[in-house]
Amino acid sequence: MRQMLDGEYPAFLNCMKQQPYRALRINTLKCEEPAFQAMFPVPLTPSPFAAHSYYLPYEAQGLGNSPLHHAGAFYLQEPSAASAVTMLDPQPGERILDLCAAPGGKTTQIAALLQGEGLVWANEVVGSRARTLLSNVERMGVRNAVVSSCHPQKLCERLAGFFDRVLVDAPCSGEGMFRKNPEAAQEWSSAHVEACAQRQQMILQSAAQAVRPGGVLVYSTCTYAPQENEQVISAFLQHHPDFSLEPGPMQNGRTAVPAWGGGEEALSLARRIFPMDGGEGHFVARLRRQGEGEAAGYTAFVPDALRGDEKKQTDELFVQLFGAAAPPWGEAGRFQNAVLLFPHGLPELTGLGVLRAGVPAGELKKGRVEPEHALFMAAKPEQLRQVLALYLSDTDALQAFLHGEELSVPESWKGYAGVAVQGMILGFGKCSGGRLKNRYPKGLRL
Ligand code: SAM
Repeated sequence: MRQMLDGEYPAFLNCMKQQPYRALRINTLKCEEPAFQAMFPVPLTPSPFAAHSYYLPYEAQGLGNSPLHHAGAFYLQEPSAASAVTMLDPQPGERILDLCAAPGGKTTQIAALLQGEGLVWANEVVGSRARTLLSNVERMGVRNAVVSSCHPQKLCERLAGFFDRVLVDAPCSGEGMFRKNPEAAQEWSSAHVEACAQRQQMILQSAAQAVRPGGVLVYSTCTYAPQENEQVISAFLQHHPDFSLEPGPMQNGRTAVPAWGGGEEALSLARRIFPMDGGEGHFVARLRRQGEGEAAGYTAFVPDALRGDEKKQTDELFVQLFGAAAPPWGEAGRFQNAVLLFPHGLPELTGLGVLRAGVPAGELKKGRVEPEHALFMAAKPEQLRQVLALYLSDTDALQAFLHGEELSVPESWKGYAGVAVQGMILGFGKCSGGRLKNRYPKGLRL
């Protein structure tokens, strides 16, 4: 770091003695930004790295237990980490691949920018981390995501040229995590940096295939090491003359350094963020693939139709929940033992380790369909027939619900009802005799 930063090294060392930056990103799929600012009890300062992202005071701890967090109103995301999606710049209607996606900070940021139009495919090779990703996609109420756990090479070969934009937020030596997570420093070694660099090149090589001609590829890490940043991009460009670096919409932080890579002037189009720039640390490079064109030809996914009784039971459930047999979004179909609401334009899913496509709506049980938590999380209160509307001032009822307890509801309520906080669905329960039996998933309870 001394060699890299030269005269700025003392300032960097000084930063290392301070508390890490903390930030949240408001989830615009669930709430309007001014409404969130008005209800949130902690002062927020806008971050320069991404829309809807705000610095938090370091002392504001424990926010993960807040009912607003459970309802998916916000995601705790380090401020400079949000810069990669600003550089990716996803547009509503596009197909986006997030290849190294867990725990889902960037996936859910992409989903919010898509505003429900298009597709975000979130992949995480490590199975246990893919389940955390799934849970965050569900909490944030995303309707148009596929979540998979597949090796990047296999996924990108099968979906070659399918995506308008691909994000590789690569596993790295995590030097930008040392302030936040001192244990990360214990794992550091120069051999680890070299091993990460090799792995990053392999992942990037796979990712390149998934980008359509004329599409965008963004590479990011949360480390400072040139071997994992400028040098990875230099090596990639040597092997992929059909890609070139371009500036992106994020001009904060500072330029990357050509001399730290292979000397190509274009490397200065990539961005670096150091703690002196207002974030823990990130490197982001945006590349464009030559050519023009629609996504490559692919086999479209055709969900299994719901048959006979399954169709009747699903229709009945939707009538009970939404007041109509047609769901308020998506196309209802069968996938294994579940009813899902699929987004349009999916490719064939088999063999790609798909954990979820669209929104799981219900589980097919003998003679009935049991609604899923995910269905409620993706719904707006105004789409549901019965909603228990709570506010942050209803502290006891909110705590009781998040602990898995029953709540009181009007005597006349029958069947399933959503539970909302400040106009955002938090979960659901089943009503009878003036009580709402809690269906908040056990693994999420306080
Ligand atoms: N994008 C995520 C977010 O914003 O929440 C963070 C991603 S993290 C920096 C990198 C991820 O890559 C980790 O979840 C890790 O499990 C995954 N990973 C590890 N080895 C990998 C490999 N060989 N190929 C692809 N991903 C890998």
